Amino acid sequence: MALTFCHSGLKTSPSPRFEAVKSALVIDDDPIVSNVLVQNLQEAGWSVHEANCGEDGLRLAREKEPDVIICDLLMPRMNGYQFCREIRNDEKFSPQPRIVVISCSNYATDREGSLAAGADDFLTKPIKSTELIHILSQESGTTFFRKPTPDLPGITLADTRVFSQMVGSNTRVRFWGVRGSIPTPGPSTMKYGGNTTCVEVRADGQLIVLDAGTGIRQLGRELMNEFQSQPIFCHVLISHTHWDHIQGFPFFMPAYDPKNHITVMGYEGARQGLQATLSSQMESPYFPVSMQQMPSNLNIEETSDTEFHIGPIEITAFFANHPGVCVGYRLDTRQGSIVFLPDNEPHSRLRMAPNQENAQSLEVLEYARKEDEKLIEFIQDADVVIMDAQYDADEYKSYIGWGHGCVDDVVALAVIANVKKLYLFHHDPDHDDAMIDRMEEWANELVANHGGTTVVEAAREGVSCVIEPAH
Ligand SMILES: [Zn+2]
Ligand SMILES: [Zn+2]
Repeated sequence: MALTFCHSGLKTSPSPRFEAVKSALVIDDDPIVSNVLVQNLQEAGWSVHEANCGEDGLRLAREKEPDVIICDLLMPRMNGYQFCREIRNDEKFSPQPRIVVISCSNYATDREGSLAAGADDFLTKPIKSTELIHILSQESGTTFFRKPTPDLPGITLADTRVFSQMVGSNTRVRFWGVRGSIPTPGPSTMKYGGNTTCVEVRADGQLIVLDAGTGIRQLGRELMNEFQSQPIFCHVLISHTHWDHIQGFPFFMPAYDPKNHITVMGYEGARQGLQATLSSQMESPYFPVSMQQMPSNLNIEETSDTEFHIGPIEITAFFANHPGVCVGYRLDTRQGSIVFLPDNEPHSRLRMAPNQENAQSLEVLEYARKEDEKLIEFIQDADVVIMDAQYDADEYKSYIGWGHGCVDDVVALAVIANVKKLYLFHHDPDHDDAMIDRMEEWANELVANHGGTTVVEAAREGVSCVIEPAH
């Protein structure tokens, strides 16, 4: 509206107001909702069209070209997402109409999905007419209604100090998930457990979680119980993003508490970065909460260095022989060293196998020997080594080149490297407790045959191991 002022400051009559009637299209399969909306809009001076399904709505939208479309999310034949995409991809609409998606529920993932599909606004039923009219009277859309996020408490030195004291300085390892490939709950896996990879390490006041398989769920619950109102500061080191190593993360309770600080570290995968890979398993078709909605202070760090520190703990990463980008971690703490190599196939036997191309050529065998030497160096003199020993020697013949270890090789490497304690890890989903018992027994026989001193145990859910300080 144009207002003009004369030089004397007295207001002259404003120019006449001509405002075209705006049009709206209401699409909802519930006539009660639809009638209320139509009535409210008409009372506010809108010209309104109505449809009771997405398909009819789309046809009407093309015919009437309304200024605003109010569209239900869940409707038969064409839902609100599909409707938004159809409109946004149709060049006929220029300018594009404003789209308000309405829904019975207030799930954040539905709001985000609607906005991603092209909606400008998202409202939860029952729709308050004042709210709707207010939104429609605004200049532009995209008024995404978020729950107000509480002010996040800043990190204080006192918080981290108290946490470190609670964690303690002793070096401890605890197994929360020891299984490879897929969770295997059930009576035949009661002893060793069915959760996929997750190991907790506490040392030098630091809490480090190795991999985020399904075992991380129970770890998260116990951490919340233990630390209560004290903020948790933890690092999650990811060996690789195969599903058995990350699938528990969406269920890690500390990540849902704004007072906690979680840093996830790992290496870039072949096709997309660590952040994209981790968050994709939480996208809407697979999970109801996106990673961006996890309210903790969550920091994803894709690293390229193979040596770094977490507090005083020295971390060294080692590229494993496994499909894709996969690492093992060595943690040198003040009280001792721990190696975590959950998925790895030693080279020598792989290269000696008769079905391998160029097998047994001296050059190939020499290469394999050198690669295994690197591994020996990586685990040399470690107090605890947690290593992939998925198969026994017989089974291994059928799984050569799959990227997993055979117990005979893993034991030999550990003995040569003077490892104090070896945990057989990444148990095969087809191995029941009795089979793992036999593998553990066989492994200790092998150590004796090699004249070694390494103590071998099959990793078991719930078991802890404390590294005694060297005197
Ligand atoms: Zn695995
Ligand atoms: Zn893997």
